[in-house]
Amino acid sequence: MSLQVATLAGTTPLVLDSPHSGVAYPDDFRHACDPAALRQAEDTHVEKLYDFAPALGVAWVEALFPRSYLDVNRNVTEIDVALFEEPWPGPVETEAKALSKVRLGKGLVWRITDEGLPIYDRPLSVREVQARIERCWQPYHDAVRAAIDAAHARHGYSIHLNCHSMPAVAGDYSTDFPGLVHADFVVGDRDGTSALPALSRMICDHLRALGYSVEYNHPYKGVELVRRYGDPAHHRHSIQLEINRRLYMDEDTLALNSGYGPLKQNLRSLVELLLNIDPRRKS
Ligand SMILES: [Zn+2]
Repeated sequence: MSLQVATLAGTTPLVLDSPHSGVAYPDDFRHACDPAALRQAEDTHVEKLYDFAPALGVAWVEALFPRSYLDVNRNVTEIDVALFEEPWPGPVETEAKALSKVRLGKGLVWRITDEGLPIYDRPLSVREVQARIERCWQPYHDAVRAAIDAAHARHGYSIHLNCHSMPAVAGDYSTDFPGLVHADFVVGDRDGTSALPALSRMICDHLRALGYSVEYNHPYKGVELVRRYGDPAHHRHSIQLEINRRLYMDEDTLALNSGYGPLKQNLRSLVELLLNIDPRRKS
């Protein structure tokens, strides 16, 4: 059991994970920028929005470390070599889309915030980034994989909901769509490759019926956690769900707002829907 990752075992086919809501800033982070700027990178409070789920038998995996320390929704090859004065000894990413995120400063270990602030005033050592991978990335991925494997072994299928939140407006240095005003929700299944599209569309329809605006695979399709574990041909469905932060919090003060309670009730209805669907009957 890792001190950096919280897990709760489930009894149902459903697995939820929250990779970006961690607020335990490690002593060895040694960042130079204002801690308040780093907090803007968190998917703050996402773990609270879903805290009803384990009681329903849903497996839960949560990163306790912050996303700006290490982003588990990146592959270990998504290394920004500009962080180091020494050569990185492992393989580095060459795929164009992933490489564009690394160049934005948003690789496995971030170089700049979404506002364009440099996070460090020093070169990082290869050893310290390797230690972050060993202490954070590996136990997180081991936990997600184990939870999905266990759900699949019990039920013959698994549904993995990869839980995030997004700012109301995309930052200038955050994505390929700076300044974009986000919908209430963005559902992503990597264009139908990480989950059965009928299942993703059912989530979109459920949220729209609740009165929300919903985008599907735009501007976010899902990244490493759904890419790595989604395998719909073998009844392993992984879907990324982005929630607009203005629905539940003040983005400046990070305080919960009056929308938090109603949103949580609606997320409960979504989880209950997913607990009552067998995607093997939908294809
Ligand atoms: Zn996120």
